[in-house]
Amino acid sequence: MSNTEQTQRVTPASSGTLLPLLETLPGALFVVNDAAMIVYANASTQALLGVTREDVLGKPLWRGAPQLVSTALYQAVQQTRQTQAPSEVEYVSPMTRTWLHVQLAPTMGGLMVQVHQGRAAARRGAPVPQGKRLSIEDLNGLYSRIGVLTPEGIVLEINEDPLAEAGVRREEVIGQPLAEARWWSCTPASQEQLCAAIARASKGETVRFETVISPREGLDRHLEIAITPHRDADHHIAYLIIAGIDITERKRAEAEIHSLIDTIPQLVWTMRPDDSHYSCNQRWHDYTGMSPEEAQGEGWMQCLHPEDRQRVRSAWQHAVQTGGVYETELRLRLHTTGEYRWFLARALPVRDERGQIIKWFGTNTDIEEQKQAEEALRQSQERASVLMNSNIIGINIIEGEQIVDANDTFLRMTGYSREDLCKGRMNWLHMTAPDDLARTLEAHQELVTQQSLTPYEKEYVCKDGSCLPVLVGGIILEHHPHQAIGFVLDNSARKELEQRKDDFISMASHELRNPLTALKLHTTLLHRQLAKQGLQGSAPTLSSMETQINKVTRLVEELLDVSKIQAGRLEYVWETADLDALLREITNTMQQTHPSHRILVRGAVQTSLMADRDRLGQVFINLLSNAVKYSPSAEAVEMDLSASAESVTIRVQDHGLGIPREQRDKIFERFYRTADPKQRAIPGLGMGLYIVAEIVKRHKGTITVDSAVGKGSTFTVTLPKKRDA
Ligand code: ADP
Repeated sequence: MSNTEQTQRVTPASSGTLLPLLETLPGALFVVNDAAMIVYANASTQALLGVTREDVLGKPLWRGAPQLVSTALYQAVQQTRQTQAPSEVEYVSPMTRTWLHVQLAPTMGGLMVQVHQGRAAARRGAPVPQGKRLSIEDLNGLYSRIGVLTPEGIVLEINEDPLAEAGVRREEVIGQPLAEARWWSCTPASQEQLCAAIARASKGETVRFETVISPREGLDRHLEIAITPHRDADHHIAYLIIAGIDITERKRAEAEIHSLIDTIPQLVWTMRPDDSHYSCNQRWHDYTGMSPEEAQGEGWMQCLHPEDRQRVRSAWQHAVQTGGVYETELRLRLHTTGEYRWFLARALPVRDERGQIIKWFGTNTDIEEQKQAEEALRQSQERASVLMNSNIIGINIIEGEQIVDANDTFLRMTGYSREDLCKGRMNWLHMTAPDDLARTLEAHQELVTQQSLTPYEKEYVCKDGSCLPVLVGGIILEHHPHQAIGFVLDNSARKELEQRKDDFISMASHELRNPLTALKLHTTLLHRQLAKQGLQGSAPTLSSMETQINKVTRLVEELLDVSKIQAGRLEYVWETADLDALLREITNTMQQTHPSHRILVRGAVQTSLMADRDRLGQVFINLLSNAVKYSPSAEAVEMDLSASAESVTIRVQDHGLGIPREQRDKIFERFYRTADPKQRAIPGLGMGLYIVAEIVKRHKGTITVDSAVGKGSTFTVTLPKKRDA
């Protein structure tokens, strides 16, 4: 039945006596249809509502007459409809705060509602039982926001707080659908959410949800809403109570915590004990690339390394069962590259006041670098231990004079036991052969100042008193400056071989010398005899034989000298020698035997020295013959003589091939020849300079070389005028 029809149905009757009667009634009177729509309002309603009755006709009672709206009235309307019996209700209008007495009577297809203001009514009929009446004041103070809605969502009552906050008057809200209140439905989404919740609640379900409302411009409120349906005696949904708790502060605090958690370098997560509601910080999402939904349940395990899953699951389950700390190392996939990095996962249970675990709060800390460092350390320890246990190289660790640790190889080499080592019976100074002590102390000094030691040869005195030739190197570790690590190679095999070679050279040169001496003697005799007989034809051949014999003799003499030097048996005959005379003699002879170059002598030393004349002569013969030999294209070699108060200096200079810088020290070593093919083409055995250096040393002098490749070399010998001791 339409509103107009209903209005008409009332109107014909009222055209008679009823209508004037109703119009004269002192109280306001409404007639509403089945849908609670106002179809008639008498003249007094204008005084009550403050608007003309035309304004309210056709509107729902709740909206047209908000001054009347209350849960009590709403319940009474429902009751009268259902029972079809008159009823009445008394209450204070939530909007006007005036006392209202409302009588309700069923009409055909509707209800008649008569309102008396401002007086206490006699209790007649069947008022709504007190216990079931609801007053907003009862709930005030319990919640920040509370209201009563019809099952359709129309506001029957509402407390003061939300109105005050939104700056709206009660009459603007009462009787209106809550979802249309502009301060609630700030967005279509929140409006829809509310409508859906009301619809569910009106079917009997208690609905809870969180929403954001904007009571006024610039003010947002987070609310946790509960809509609870209330049923009447017949179990119909009578009305809905909507209660909202302001959780804005909590949300803000949560947001702050979240942003704080987002700044933590760790991946942070929380988890309910039943594996539900996984939540995590931004870093976690950025790292795993997983959405919170994907991570729910055991979803987060997808970003674990497959090999770690079972172990992590067990650790997690164990923690959940025991309520203890969860701590494990695991690999998590970085979604951008697909690589796995190591993390330390830790979680602690968070308990409520009854001690129940409500959630777990966990962090994952990236320990990849730490792991890599650990791995590198492990590998280096492994390598160190392989080295330490190798049976090739002896290793010892020294502190001061003491050997504090050593590997088995070193112990085996030196014949000491581990017990000797532990009892501090291994002192490297005592274990050094006396002849090597100076060199060893020098090496130790080098180690201390340079943190490392160029390998050198020495001999250890073993436990049984025997000597072991070794090659020793060493380093000092940066973090243990008081300890040095020594590396020791058994050098006995090489030394033995060297000894055999030396012995052979010594033997061979001795063996060669005697026949050579005889050969030389016989050639000289033959030369003389043939000369006497006037047979000059063979003279050149014999001379050339003598030259060759002289060359070989010189070589053999050098070989002998070298082996004597090696054995420390080169003998010297000391006498006072006139150096200028010696050098003149030598240069004259050399000039005859080396006619290819002019030998120029400049200056004089004017000094006599305590010297072995022949040996010193050997020095300059060698230097001059090298100068000639290694300057094939030059015409002259020069010898400069000079003297100071303390010393004399003899320089032998050529304009030949020169010596590369890196080889300048080595040329004084035994049998060393430079690698340069041009020089190699010139015959030689690498003995001359070795002998020269040795002789100069025995004369307490020095020899140095200055050279430019392709330009020539200068050898400088300096000899002290007075020899000490
Ligand atoms: P060798 O018998 O080879 O000459 P030495 O001991 O006299 O042996 O010299 C060692 C090496 O030094 C030579 O092989 C040569 O390469 C280099 N050397 C010596 N003197 C000279 C020089 N005056 N000019 C260039 N190189 C030289």
